[in-house]
Amino acid sequence: MNAQTLKQMDLDYVLHTYARNYVHFVRGSGARLFDEMGKDYIDFGSGIAVCSVGHGNKRLADALYKQAQNLIHTSNLYLIEPQAKLAKKLVELSGYDMRVFFANSGAEANEGALKIARKFGEVNGELKRYQIITLDSSFHGRTISTLKATGQDKMHNYFGPFPDGFVYAKDLNDIPNKISNVTCAVLLELVQGEGGITPFNKQEVQDLAKLLKEKNILLMVDEVQTGIYRSGELFASQAYGITPDVITTAKGLAGGVPIGAVLTSLKDIFSPSDHGSTFGGNFLSTAAALEVLEILSALKASGELDKTIAYFSKKLQDLQKNHSAIFTQEVGLGLMRGLRVRDAETLSAFLESSFNNGVLVLKSGKNTARFLPSLTITKEEIDLGFERLEFTLKDIY
Ligand SMILES: *Cc1c(COP(=O)(O)O)cnc(C)c1O
Repeated sequence: MNAQTLKQMDLDYVLHTYARNYVHFVRGSGARLFDEMGKDYIDFGSGIAVCSVGHGNKRLADALYKQAQNLIHTSNLYLIEPQAKLAKKLVELSGYDMRVFFANSGAEANEGALKIARKFGEVNGELKRYQIITLDSSFHGRTISTLKATGQDKMHNYFGPFPDGFVYAKDLNDIPNKISNVTCAVLLELVQGEGGITPFNKQEVQDLAKLLKEKNILLMVDEVQTGIYRSGELFASQAYGITPDVITTAKGLAGGVPIGAVLTSLKDIFSPSDHGSTFGGNFLSTAAALEVLEILSALKASGELDKTIAYFSKKLQDLQKNHSAIFTQEVGLGLMRGLRVRDAETLSAFLESSFNNGVLVLKSGKNTARFLPSLTITKEEIDLGFERLEFTLKDIY
């Protein structure tokens, strides 16, 4: 179907929740996407940190095919071999002494975390503790409660009344001020994906973790975006040297197959019927995630991932230095990186022109260009992407 017909069908029948770009991608290979005209794009966005092993990955496709031919779903009423294996692998690779619950998305993983926090607050201590502290510029999802957990005011239009019990802190240092006798948990991202890609200070995070431990308040880290080697480690929490009580993850875990996961050291917090999911952790998604973790843990162990991170960040730093009139700062962690752009208009122009020149770059917050390449991106793909960005910048001055 040609892009014009498809666009009209999309406009007529699909709810307009996204400011969609009407390009029609028909094929992908590694970090490249091809539109219906055969034009290729270097994908520095990976479907928003999802396509962690690139497009058209043969090993992932084979694992999916093999699993789909046999069993896709039986439900959580019965044993699911790849689910148990995936839980074991996540726990072992992380080094955290935890158990795992599987969901289908980031928001749903966070819902699980919120329920853990509420039950923890209910069963520990005389007073029912129910307040969860999150940050002003956070992003935790689109369901009613994760939207309320998201600190950005502008996202709360239209959808109230919301569940009670969310308290917002300006930044890390403001969290202690928000603690009360009914606080049960703090939920935060270590690098805010939608809030500008600035990694929090390691010492400040460690100090906060210590304070929360003393006060018997849960530290819950939203690693929906930072997780699955995006930071250079399986979880950014490891890079920060902290042991959270709860970690949520999703985006990159199954390379594009929907999945979410909650890991917690509160191994017995839930009893049967406290929580659940029909699809969560089924054969298909967990078989996919197992293969993705095989691929990525080997990439990490061989030193290749660290090389790619070093190479990509050097390229971004050079771009920033060579065009410091446009890019005021280079920020980020691992392969989750950003360039602060001088103003919002310049950012829009840069994103549009990059697209026209064959590079997909995302936005974060008001004035940050966000880069989330697949973790398997090659040097040649990186070079080509940056060549095109250099070319793009000629249009921007
Ligand atoms: C994307 C994202 C979510 C929401 O994930 P969905 O799969 O879209 O529900 C939550 N938290 C963070 C940090 C994210 O980046």
